[in-house]
Amino acid sequence: MAVQSPAEVHIFDSAASEAVRMDELVGYCEGLLPPFRIVRHQDFFIFCAGGVEGAGVSAFKDRVAGRLAASRVGRPSGPAGEVNPLPGVVDYERRMLDREPPRPIGALYDGYDLCRAYAEILDWSGRRLEGWTIVITNQLLGTLEQHDARYHAKVSIYGHPCLISTTGLVEAPARPRDYYLARGLGLHAGRARGGADDFLERDDPRTTEALKGYLAQAFFYHLVGEPFCEDASCRLYNAHWQAELIGAQLGANPGLCGRHRRMLGEILKESAACGNAKCIKP
Ligand SMILES: [Zn+2]
Repeated sequence: MAVQSPAEVHIFDSAASEAVRMDELVGYCEGLLPPFRIVRHQDFFIFCAGGVEGAGVSAFKDRVAGRLAASRVGRPSGPAGEVNPLPGVVDYERRMLDREPPRPIGALYDGYDLCRAYAEILDWSGRRLEGWTIVITNQLLGTLEQHDARYHAKVSIYGHPCLISTTGLVEAPARPRDYYLARGLGLHAGRARGGADDFLERDDPRTTEALKGYLAQAFFYHLVGEPFCEDASCRLYNAHWQAELIGAQLGANPGLCGRHRRMLGEILKESAACGNAKCIKP
């Protein structure tokens, strides 16, 4: 399978954490996908507002705030967008748009609806991006799970654009059962870094290394339609526990499994040999 155009990947840093080293992430992506031009951006919303002319910016932000508020999950079990958002929620989102990242966290957004919201906001802005768009955010994303009809936090949402949450890295994969037991008893849960009791914390210095695997998942989502791998040692492993995340992303030599390395190699080789002008050339 040859890779059709786009030849660009746009990565936005809306998390603005010192733990997110964008230079290193861009270098990782360039190494993984040499034919692509990796374009680094700062905040997604500042970028979008930049596409709107002077006096229209405030009205644009009002519209964006309403749309973001509609993506919020009101109750752990209630779907987003069920009712019109309360004016106070819209006002909060509007104030946040006047701030630079990192913006406060606390709300839970429906990940798939937020993905649609970002696509609409980009469209309203009039700014055009060729290729794939990935937004790294500190906001918390969730998806409504059928088995218990509740929202569960997620690290990433794969779509157009792809969203990756630094707060999700901390909150979505579960910590060891002993941690919750100790917390329930009001005890401080000790842990051994690199061991089974280890977990990522907010602004953890290992955040950048972990994000690489989720960027790789976004690429495979676009390339073959499947971001995940069954191999627990592969960067594409869909970790449900912190120990699994650490095993896949923070081991001694994290990377893709043999099958995915070969798959990516084949895709890039066929793209290089393809006569189609839309194909990516190294
Ligand atoms: Zn794999």
